[in-house]
Amino acid sequence: MIVLKFGGTSVENAAAIDTVVRIVQREQHRQPVVVLSAIAGATNTLIKAAHLAQEGDHEQAIRLMNGLLERHVVILENLLESRSVIQLLILEIRRRFDELKLLCQGITLLGELTNRSLDAIASAGERLSTQILAEALAERGMPVKLVDARSFMITDDHYTSAAPRFGEIQSRIDADLRPALQSGNIILTQGFIGSTSKGITTTLGRGGSDYSAAIIGAALEAEEIQIWTDVDGILTADPRICPDARKLKVISFREASELAYFGAKVLHPSTILPAVQKNIPVIVLNSRKPDSTGTLIVSNPPKSNIPVKSIASKKGITVINIQSTRMLMAYGFLEKIFAVFDKYKTPVDLVTTSEVAVSVTIDNSSCLADIVADLSLAGDVLVYEHKGIVCIVGEEMQSTAGIADRVFRALRTTNVMMISQGASEINMSLVLNEEDIEAAVKYLHAEFFPVSQTGEILETVHHETGR
Ligand code: ADP
Ligand code: ASP
Ligand code: MG
Repeated sequence: MIVLKFGGTSVENAAAIDTVVRIVQREQHRQPVVVLSAIAGATNTLIKAAHLAQEGDHEQAIRLMNGLLERHVVILENLLESRSVIQLLILEIRRRFDELKLLCQGITLLGELTNRSLDAIASAGERLSTQILAEALAERGMPVKLVDARSFMITDDHYTSAAPRFGEIQSRIDADLRPALQSGNIILTQGFIGSTSKGITTTLGRGGSDYSAAIIGAALEAEEIQIWTDVDGILTADPRICPDARKLKVISFREASELAYFGAKVLHPSTILPAVQKNIPVIVLNSRKPDSTGTLIVSNPPKSNIPVKSIASKKGITVINIQSTRMLMAYGFLEKIFAVFDKYKTPVDLVTTSEVAVSVTIDNSSCLADIVADLSLAGDVLVYEHKGIVCIVGEEMQSTAGIADRVFRALRTTNVMMISQGASEINMSLVLNEEDIEAAVKYLHAEFFPVSQTGEILETVHHETGR
């Protein structure tokens, strides 16, 4: 069994979906489960419409919904052969959009948008795209079974970032998905969406289809998990920042999870965990080049001569600095500080300490005011917003001398606010002003991946910048 996950750009139009169909056909003999995202941009549009509805701009919300409806209709008409199937599907899709518009109307009337309603709306993209792909696969004679992910992807009720309930998911997948696969069906299901045990729709957080694929792959103990996207694999940097980024042929699970966590959008940060637990290789591939080899992510890749494998970055970081002379020679101070972040369920990314100060970074500042109020009881608190993190990652960094020197030489003109290295030994993270992030990534990329550099795991690729 294998899992094939296709992201939004892999289904952005009829031609792209046609390629997906061919890839699935090619892998048919390996008992594939296909996990699908919404068509490119659909989730953004749905969420935007919901917010417009809440702000009272019902007209604009409906306009967005109609535009999205039209995109789905155009795809159907260009993808499928049978006129009668097209007509039926258009009717069905119109009915779905009527429901979505009703939901928007309700939101406008109440002037309130709960995360639960947001999930009900945001989940529509995946429900629509899978219905279209199911018809396309069936029309090409493939034995496809469309399974609603909400029947097995059971989560808690943390709407918009629900946590999977692994035990329940495992037993439902064993009871339903596994037998259906074994009797020769190609299973097609939605990424990103799930359901509480009471049957209310949830989502796993933005970009969550990768996570869905990994959860399903782990539950089925799949041979491999293929993540099909719009770039050649995991690259030495985001190609939108560094057009000369190169493809890595193989990297470790640890490297991939650090990269994902620190902003490489190519994988959802939680994707790797279920795969690691079952030691299932993950391959990132380009659906625009179905014959390319992609990047293989495994637990123990061969040692490489390249100390730094990739550079990731994220913006929207807040730095909180807590100073107190009471910290001097005292104990229990850090415990008090971390208890505050725990209380407000806000994860801390980086931490640096001195004898009288602690600095931490967070990327979710929704409880910032409360956090600052509570921390003020422990010391003087300073908050710096609009920061970013640049992170360099590589297993062999630990055994290579001179990396820090190269980092600081590359960033000699950049103001670095915080540095963190050590905890995982395979990453070094720097906090900078948000506006300096792109330049810093470029400087570091030029330093660690000069055009002349070669290495067995690096491959120069030509990027078609689709967006
Ligand atoms: P999908 O819709 O297939 O899930 P995403 O947009 O979520 O695709 O992720 C793919 C994008 O991730 C690429 O288009 C690229 O711009 C971005 N990206 C950021 N960092 C990296 C990296 N290190 N390697 C590859 N892609 C990256
Ligand atoms: N469609 C969802 C999103 O845009 C999930 C995904 O694409 O992974 O966030
Ligand atoms: Mg994605």
